[in-house]
Amino acid sequence: MATKKKAKKTQVQLVKGMKDILPDEQLYWNVVKEKVFKAARDYGFSRIDTPIVEFTNLFKRTVGEDTDIVSKEMYSFVTPGGDKLSLRPENTAGVVRSYIEHGMLNLPQPVKLFYIGPQFRHDKPQAGRYRQFWQFGFEAIGDNDPVIDAQVIIISYNILKELGLDIQIQINSVGDEESRANYMKILRQYYQDKKKDLCVDCKKRLIKSPMRLLDCKVKYCQEMALEAPQMVDYLSDDAKEHFMSVLEYLDEMDVKYSLDPTIVRGLDYYTRTAWEIVELSNEGKLQALGGGGRYDDLAEVLGGRATPAVGFAMGMERIIMKMQENKIEIPKSKDYDVFVAQLGVEARKKALKLFEELREDDFKVTENMSKKGLKDQLDIANKRGAKYTLIMGQKEISDGTVLIRDMESGVQEIIDYKKVKIELRKRLQKKILDSEQKI
Ligand code: AMP
Repeated sequence: MATKKKAKKTQVQLVKGMKDILPDEQLYWNVVKEKVFKAARDYGFSRIDTPIVEFTNLFKRTVGEDTDIVSKEMYSFVTPGGDKLSLRPENTAGVVRSYIEHGMLNLPQPVKLFYIGPQFRHDKPQAGRYRQFWQFGFEAIGDNDPVIDAQVIIISYNILKELGLDIQIQINSVGDEESRANYMKILRQYYQDKKKDLCVDCKKRLIKSPMRLLDCKVKYCQEMALEAPQMVDYLSDDAKEHFMSVLEYLDEMDVKYSLDPTIVRGLDYYTRTAWEIVELSNEGKLQALGGGGRYDDLAEVLGGRATPAVGFAMGMERIIMKMQENKIEIPKSKDYDVFVAQLGVEARKKALKLFEELREDDFKVTENMSKKGLKDQLDIANKRGAKYTLIMGQKEISDGTVLIRDMESGVQEIIDYKKVKIELRKRLQKKILDSEQKI
């Protein structure tokens, strides 16, 4: 006799560094997304979605081969066809690739694009740091004017401010090619006799890209960075004038900022303006919610025509974490107008139909057909904020009527089934008028 094999229980679990976004938290995500969409509308940015997967080379050429992101943190793989691909660790490179590939150069400039979606970095997970995380970003491609830098900064600032966060921009200029060549020499000189005290990564950075030493997260490297000569003192006249104009615009708009010479942004592609946004409630441990900068050379690196551009990216998990830490209230999804309640099998059939008809007519209608008792259903209607409940039982079906209950006063009236929509609309309209008069 064949023995029956016991089915092996497989344990399912979340992959390390990943995060489920459960329904309660989605309320925060909706609020943030709505702000992003509103900002895009207000400032004239159009949405772009690029694929999550790109050729690995795209990131090597733009973000930089010896950055942590590319050298240590990319999810890379080779396809059965032999293509070397990576999950995107950031979205700017993909957007610029798309700009070039679709000839957006021929559109009126700047082309203003925004994106929202998941990014992937195989970093060490910790509070506010995931391996899959969401970013939204705004990119203005094709204009060199400092007013565009300022406007993009203002967008990032306003989104967070309107979400109720107390934030500050930390800003710097990483100069243009001319200023940088000069400054890198000065930096190498400064670090020459301190070399032995640097962390292993910074020793390598000193040879290839000394400006990244300023951005190191290791404490003793940070202390040395604070004493280092500052880029702003070595800017070319052109880069200095550009930076000063950006700051003047920010002053004009009362944007809270501080000059921070250590903001160099970890990636290769930044030029001129560079900034990060920090939240101020936890002074001891400022964590960046987002950052951005100008990247005038990026399109050329990818084989396109020289195209000045500026943009930013914000981390959505971190924004939401800060909103929760600061107990920022968000509207509950309690905006139903009407709940359809039913008592008995026959009534349920009719109620299903009534629900569909109301939904198709754009009433904000809700139900819970699996509940049988009226009390349970009224409780749910209350929790969902319904202003009226339509009640259908055996008697109402035989009479061709429906009971309408005002959830605030508890008053119930019988109405003709055929007039249910007219009666409902009349009452909802009256509620709006009454509440306007109270204001
Ligand atoms: P970056 O492109 O590294 O400057 O990232 C911009 C923003 O994305 C950061 O300020 C964070 O808010 C967010 N971010 C970056 N890496 C992560 C991560 N591993 N987990 C969660 N958020 C992240």
